[in-house]
Amino acid sequence: MGKTGGFLEFARQEPGYRPVAERVRDFRAVEVPLSGEALHAQMARCMECGTPFCHGYGCPLANVIPELNDLAWQGRWAEALALLLFANPLPEFTGRLCPALCEAACVLALNDKAVTIRQIELAIIENGFEKGLLYPMPPIRRLDKRVAIVGSGPAGLAAADILNKAGYQVVMYERAAKIGGILRYGIPDFKLEKWILDRRIRLMEQEGIRFETGVEVGSDVSYHYLQSRFDAICLCGGIPEPRDLSVPGRDLHGIYYALDYLISQNRKTSGERSDDGEDIDAVGKKVVIIGGGDTGADCLGTAIRQGAKSVLQLEIMPEPPPARPESTPWPMWPLIRRDSSSHYEGGERRWGVDTLGFQGQKGHVSRMGCVEVSSMRHADGRWEFKPCPGTEFEVEADLVLLALGYVATGRNRIIDDLHIERDRQGYIKVDDQHMTSISMIFAAGDMRAGQSIVARSIADGVAAARGIISSLHSGTQRNDRP
Ligand SMILES: Cc1cc2nc3c(=O)[nH]c(=O)nc-3n(C[C@H](O)[C@H](O)[C@H](O)COP(=O)(O)OP(=O)(O)OC[C@H]3O[C@@H](n4cnc5c(N)ncnc54)[C@H](O)[C@@H]3O)c2cc1C
Ligand code: SF4
Repeated sequence: MGKTGGFLEFARQEPGYRPVAERVRDFRAVEVPLSGEALHAQMARCMECGTPFCHGYGCPLANVIPELNDLAWQGRWAEALALLLFANPLPEFTGRLCPALCEAACVLALNDKAVTIRQIELAIIENGFEKGLLYPMPPIRRLDKRVAIVGSGPAGLAAADILNKAGYQVVMYERAAKIGGILRYGIPDFKLEKWILDRRIRLMEQEGIRFETGVEVGSDVSYHYLQSRFDAICLCGGIPEPRDLSVPGRDLHGIYYALDYLISQNRKTSGERSDDGEDIDAVGKKVVIIGGGDTGADCLGTAIRQGAKSVLQLEIMPEPPPARPESTPWPMWPLIRRDSSSHYEGGERRWGVDTLGFQGQKGHVSRMGCVEVSSMRHADGRWEFKPCPGTEFEVEADLVLLALGYVATGRNRIIDDLHIERDRQGYIKVDDQHMTSISMIFAAGDMRAGQSIVARSIADGVAAARGIISSLHSGTQRNDRP
């Protein structure tokens, strides 16, 4: 048991951030994690609840949070690390990137501020790396079964880790030049420095996983090739098709998908040469980001660092309230206004604004027309937006970034070529073992569940790996190979 009454003695403390004036001059991580006595006090705040909602309701990975907090508080770091890795194979990513659904569900948050669970998780894993508690641990016995993982984002990495540790021979195929999916190419270094990813990949390689980069499954190698050489295939290809905006002037130059913009900067930050893909730079430009979510916020931080003249982020939804509304009571994830570290660095944000169209000069976007909208939520959860007459306005824009999410129903070569069944929303349909409609082809991550978060993708990869292990063990292969 941790410190009795610790939550009465210590207030919640947030992690620190590097000063804005300093951090906007580089792409290095902005968060300064809690450490020393401040962190120890935070561990002492955990009440070790009899019914820990953080673990059972909040955390997609079902991290054993009360015990982790207690072990860390006692300084039993090696035990805490073993327990953490039992549920979450990649905690250095969730410890930095997770919106912390567990903290929203923390019992202490009912009438006080939640325990800083994410910071404690980060401390446990980083302590493990620092003290040499994490070293290559290849399986004691190799099995003669081979599994191919397609896609190297968090879902693929998690599945590969579990399968490899269970003794399976794992080969991961990735079409990009480097491993990591959105962790590598989408999320900017100021949220996740890439040496953290490289450190994990090195460890996985030393443990026996084979990484094949620059290989697109479906064109460079066929699925039938994989099916003839592997006992199971796990599809973890993410969602490739961003949502477009069908308004007049969309075809002007200077309008890009947010992810293409982030990929371009991430490649530059890591010094990766690229023959494909345009170098999109915001220096000296009036940037408008359409979409108020996390991807939009990452674009904002990137544009500020690149030296944009101005940045405006537009969102069609109304501005969320600052405190938990009645519609999302504890322990649900509260629909409140969220400000990322980028929002403290500059730029302007507007809510309840729709785009009417783009105008240009010499084929390049220069202005855009907007209108304020009123919104209404229907009983089935659908939102309806109505333009407010007389609120039309124009803004100057010479770089427009579309951060509107992704579409499931778009063309997807893997799904279409193999005629894999989709669910009603258009994502890959799987059974309770994560097997698709094709025998011994499994799926996990955003490709299966839709746009999500890193923790859910890892949890999905773990679940798919368990499904593969169970199917290979029991020999439950359906006789329907294409
Ligand atoms: C800009 C951005 C910022 C985000 N920030 C956060 C955050 O701060 N916190 C958070 O929790 N979540 C965040 N997310 C969400 C999170 O990153 C995703 O939910 C997660 O990465 C999905 O993981 P995945 O493994 O399913 O797919 P991905 O990470 O998309 O990886 C899929 C991989 O599969 C590869 N691939 C696809 N098809 C093939 C093929 N045929 N052959 C070979 N390789 C293939 C792709 O190249 C890619 O590398 C963010 C997302 C974006 C876009
Ligand atoms: S709900 Fe909060 S206080 Fe209770 S065990 Fe979990 S982290 Fe600790």
